[in-house]
Amino acid sequence: MNKFTKITASIGPKCEDRETLTRMIQAGVNVCRLNFSHDTGDAQGKKIDLIRKISTELNTPVAIMIDLQGPKHRIGNFETEEKYPLEIGQKFTFDSNPAPGDATRVYLPDTDVLASLRVGDRILLNDGKIEMKVESAAPDKVDTTVVRGNEIWSRRGFNLPDTEIDTSVLTKKDREDLEYAITKKPDYVAISFVQKPEDVAEVRDFITQRTSHPIKIIAKIERPNAVDRITDIAAAADGIMIARGDLAVEVPYAEVPAISRHIIRECRKMNRPVIVATQMLGTMINSEFPTRAEITDVSNAAYLRADSTMTSEETTMGINPVNVIDTMYNILAYADCDAITNPYDWSRVEHLPENDWSRSVASMAYLNKASAIVVFARDTITATQISCRKPDIPIIAVCNESVIANQLCLVRGICPIYDTELFGMRDAFNSARKFNINSGKLVIVDEDKISLRTLD
Ligand code: PEP
Repeated sequence: MNKFTKITASIGPKCEDRETLTRMIQAGVNVCRLNFSHDTGDAQGKKIDLIRKISTELNTPVAIMIDLQGPKHRIGNFETEEKYPLEIGQKFTFDSNPAPGDATRVYLPDTDVLASLRVGDRILLNDGKIEMKVESAAPDKVDTTVVRGNEIWSRRGFNLPDTEIDTSVLTKKDREDLEYAITKKPDYVAISFVQKPEDVAEVRDFITQRTSHPIKIIAKIERPNAVDRITDIAAAADGIMIARGDLAVEVPYAEVPAISRHIIRECRKMNRPVIVATQMLGTMINSEFPTRAEITDVSNAAYLRADSTMTSEETTMGINPVNVIDTMYNILAYADCDAITNPYDWSRVEHLPENDWSRSVASMAYLNKASAIVVFARDTITATQISCRKPDIPIIAVCNESVIANQLCLVRGICPIYDTELFGMRDAFNSARKFNINSGKLVIVDEDKISLRTLD
């Protein structure tokens, strides 16, 4: 059974050896995500080299996505390693004094953050387990009241859902990581805690000043102000990741499914691939089986026609990363297959103008009951636009540059082939056969020419 929805797998300690990575790619991984919050520099570089090597050996294109940590905020240290209880109604202060904290105050190392806080803003500590409200704000000190209590200890992370933080999306660490990563020619760079389209432009400038390699940018949506500006951010970026981990801390958790649906729909309109991320098969960190709720979550991403689902700790830290990919593959393949046995849902393309070119390709395929669409892909744009019309048949992208084949690995329903020799009409037939499409009609797209051929 084939699947259309792609798998992005986070690569970490439990799956970075040659054998496990090979088996994961054979099991259906399309994109490898390397999270620079954990390893950096050569430790990540070696993984990139290994993935490229395996991809060549298997003759299977795989995209490499590096994920920058971004401005993740942390409080300073306390006097002791103890946990300090915070009760509802209690007063607590964050300040610019580097002295160790106590039951009444703690150092907040990032001066931009301290200066951005306003009266009424919420401070969410420890994945939202603690909520505080700012009562008074000065550039070097904010006083708060505890609204939801729990324990606090040294170096806890915090989120500020109400605060527009006037700081660069690239920290000093991100700049160093990106400087290094660029030398390894990744296919995608994912940027964390994006707030506005200018953040994407800043990273694009950083990259283009250093390389002509066409690295694509994925904006991670995990802040409410990014959700509000999703259309502008999607326009500035090359793709979107719905980073549900931090998102579910920064917005009320009940809103996350509706926000995800909205983002997927916007991305389709904007011709941008979209990844649904975090806790998709989280219980498989310690279990060989997913929960019923996880099965439903993964399949819903496929039914909503997201481009990719993503694994996190279940592959980086889990007991059986290959089994995680097998499981995700099975769920996606079933959902994708089930979705296309229903009649084509024209409401999905109704918002497009009649003369939309990619809609013409999708409708030609639909009206002629084509088995596949073959695109001679000189860039990623044409095939991606067709994919965003969700034709629900394979889109075979014949690419004469490996970076194009790799980048198309992320996009729903696209089967990329990298071969510099394949660029004639007969090659369209041979390419389809490589994916076991041996009969029926093909819609063939070569630049602005669209033709219909019967496989012989
Ligand atoms: C997330 O928050 O869901 C996410 C994918 O980001 P990270 O793993 O970098 O925290």
